[in-house]
Amino acid sequence: MSTLVNLEPTNPVEPFLRSDRMPHIWCPGCGIGTTVNCFAEALIESKIDLKSLALVSGIGCTGRVAGYVKLDSFHTTHGRAIPFATGMKLANPKLNVVVYSGDGDLSAIGGNHLIHAARRNIDLKVICVNNLIYAMTGGQTAPTTPGHAVTSTSPYGTFEPSFNLPHLVEAAGAVYVARWTTYHVRQLARSITEAFNKKGFSFIEVISPCPTLYQRRNKLGDGLETMKYYKEKSKTKHGCPTSEVGLTMQGEIIVGKFVDRDRPDYSTLLKAQMHESLGDRYVDYDEEQGYACGDGGCSEDSCH
Ligand code: SF4
Repeated sequence: MSTLVNLEPTNPVEPFLRSDRMPHIWCPGCGIGTTVNCFAEALIESKIDLKSLALVSGIGCTGRVAGYVKLDSFHTTHGRAIPFATGMKLANPKLNVVVYSGDGDLSAIGGNHLIHAARRNIDLKVICVNNLIYAMTGGQTAPTTPGHAVTSTSPYGTFEPSFNLPHLVEAAGAVYVARWTTYHVRQLARSITEAFNKKGFSFIEVISPCPTLYQRRNKLGDGLETMKYYKEKSKTKHGCPTSEVGLTMQGEIIVGKFVDRDRPDYSTLLKAQMHESLGDRYVDYDEEQGYACGDGGCSEDSCH
């Protein structure tokens, strides 16, 4: 008797997606889906324990990633992904916490959280999908919009200087900083894998097209045209000083791993300070038991 074999091909990334939520909301040619593919590749490559992983997003087109991945994920309020993620990491230091959000969410509305998490060196992996604009809210100028770009709030061209995100987070204290575009799929997956193995504040910027609101208004063609631009104008320069990687409208894009350094993370500094101040009275976080209850006399196992 012959046995029926299911020969239906499956995409290796599929187990990491909530397929029941498909189709997704992203426009044709948008780069966000490509970044999710790279993220899933990094999950496979790193063999990271998925039960130890939590993904946090803010609001915006990239913020929707939290709803599409089959992981413990949190879709939070606008600009506040980093504070939610910080709370999770401090409450449960065993967690690997990934912040996955857009440039508007992370560097504008959540800009203060970004620099202070880098300063404190909180052990978070931040993936910032930079489409150079506020997308979901209507294509307004963002702090990352390059000079002369036309947006819904700058119909005659942007004139404000824009943030150079790698430089900003390096200056604030990040220990790992890299930038890729959605053309650099292997390099991006590798960077995410490296960040999983790094203790401290890691920041990966991914330059990504928004054909609907940025490319169209600036007459830059569709998603495919943008990929050709990324291919032609990207230069890989590992270790390049971040002061030299600012973006211009349709100019060269410097990509690579810019920063990889070590310094004590927030939890390490906190423990050292508490031990110094409280001596034996300070009880460390226990890998098995979680936090001790202190002197409260609580006897509930479930509260650990
Ligand atoms: S509006 Fe732009 S960023 Fe948002 S899904 Fe569409 S192409 Fe992507």
